[in-house]
Amino acid sequence: MGNVKPVYNSKITCPVCDSEIEYTKVRSKQIRLLRQDTDFCPYYDGVNPLFYEAVICSECGYGSHITTFSNVDRYARAKIKEKITPKWQKRSFTGERDLLHALEAFKIVLLSLYAMDGPKSEIGKISLRIAWLYRYSGDQEQENKYLKHTLESYKKAYSQEDLSEEGKLDEYTCIYIIGELSKRLGNYEDSTQWLSRLIMSFSDPKQKERIPNRLIEISRDLYQEVKDLAAASKE
Ligand SMILES: [Zn+2]
Repeated sequence: MGNVKPVYNSKITCPVCDSEIEYTKVRSKQIRLLRQDTDFCPYYDGVNPLFYEAVICSECGYGSHITTFSNVDRYARAKIKEKITPKWQKRSFTGERDLLHALEAFKIVLLSLYAMDGPKSEIGKISLRIAWLYRYSGDQEQENKYLKHTLESYKKAYSQEDLSEEGKLDEYTCIYIIGELSKRLGNYEDSTQWLSRLIMSFSDPKQKERIPNRLIEISRDLYQEVKDLAAASKE
């Protein structure tokens, strides 16, 4: 019995249509993180759990990140039923996923989020994952398109949302990602402004304890890198 499959199916109730559906998870013992890019894009040895984070209801077409699947209020439920389900062709999303399957699933999640006017922070989270999938496949044009979308979504989330709510990325990680993606997209001035805002917050005793040391370390490194890039681009 040495050949245990890296993935298995689990059951969950769809909060939109109340069907009991199956979705596929990766066995935690199979997950071996090798490294991450500076925007947290992960690289794994073997099976990539990122591919399985988008959960789709086979019955009604509702899709969500696994961590927020049950967070559907009456408004969202009505909007999915009105805008997504009538066009949905019932099909299963269980089983092993390759990169293309994962892309399709995440794009369905994005459609659900648009239909239910989902939070910008969630739209940013999903767009960033789509950008990473395109990075894996070497498609820089599509990657940049989704990075731009992520950047705009996180900027709106930062100014409009309460990021202290559970399950959301905290405001400091949000600032970091905005700085990081601005750099990636060549907006060095924006990038240094956001990163210096984060580094300044760390010198405020009231905020310091809420900011992880690791985040400040990588922000300082990135800030220096962007300064160098900006200087080189003016030569
Ligand atoms: Zn459903």
